[in-house]
Amino acid sequence: MDAAACGVSSGLGMKRTISRTTRRASTLDSLQISKEEEQREDLIERIASRDFQSRVLWSRVVFVIGASLAWLHLPFLDAALQRLYFSHLLTSPFFRHYSFEPLLASTIFAFNIGLFAVLDFFIPSLQKYRIQPYKTMAAWKNRLQDALKNEVPWYFFFWIPFGGLLRARRMATAAPTVALVIKEVLAGLCIYDALFYFGHNILHRVAPLYKGIHAKHHHSPVVRAGDSIRHSFLDGTWDVVCAVVALNVLKAHTLSRALFNLVAISLICEAHSGYHFPWAINNIVPMHIFAGSVVHDLHHRKGKVNFSKFFTWWDRMFGTYAFEAS
Ligand SMILES: [Zn+2]
Ligand SMILES: [Zn+2]
Repeated sequence: MDAAACGVSSGLGMKRTISRTTRRASTLDSLQISKEEEQREDLIERIASRDFQSRVLWSRVVFVIGASLAWLHLPFLDAALQRLYFSHLLTSPFFRHYSFEPLLASTIFAFNIGLFAVLDFFIPSLQKYRIQPYKTMAAWKNRLQDALKNEVPWYFFFWIPFGGLLRARRMATAAPTVALVIKEVLAGLCIYDALFYFGHNILHRVAPLYKGIHAKHHHSPVVRAGDSIRHSFLDGTWDVVCAVVALNVLKAHTLSRALFNLVAISLICEAHSGYHFPWAINNIVPMHIFAGSVVHDLHHRKGKVNFSKFFTWWDRMFGTYAFEAS
């Protein structure tokens, strides 16, 4: 066999090897895709089941009763809020601390992530609400060490002293009403979500930005609550900027700012928890207005859908909303 024939035959051999490897890779890919679709179908079935839907209904009933009672006793609640604000909050050194907001945010993140870690490791009866039925704990592996090395130092050595540098914390001298706090928290979530949607979309569309800033957050397609703070410095900063801009645009009351932190962070941790509880706010409020964990889980798996964090309207408006895996 001459050199040319030898080259042709080795070229053909290589082509056959490449095509075999490609076929094997595409078979593995399609197996993975069909496994994911199967799991998603199972999830949709579980959500549609009678048992799940009756729990959603009961959660709605409890919510409506609670909201009605609050509405009927609004003057009493306003008076209680006023007492709380003047007698406890304004006299508390923690509440008055110039870095109260980053300190509060860190505490709420630690509490929520700790709570979901306890559910993951110690409450197997809640596994029935997990979005992915398999029990991998890979997302928790080295999470604490990683957080202590990366995210925690940003808070303690950047955001908390930064509050001191700015000395910008102003205490409102009048107590807010319950209605004002609810209105400002909801408006804050809407403004945050609008800013976050567009920034997040760009981070996914511009490859160098994704690689350099956002890829860390997409470390694993199976999310756990610990992933809610798995960020590069710029990615985490973008989250903080969205919150600060939203609250500053609204000129929100000191108490609304604190409550916004509580609500927004709890929603972020719940969206990354991997659990889909019937009593979650996205189930209580009908028509999928709130995004919730199932929607954000799909964002982590697909990357090209569900860029909003709290609501679904921006994704619906721009055609990036998805609830099922198809
Ligand atoms: Zn996420
Ligand atoms: Zn993303």
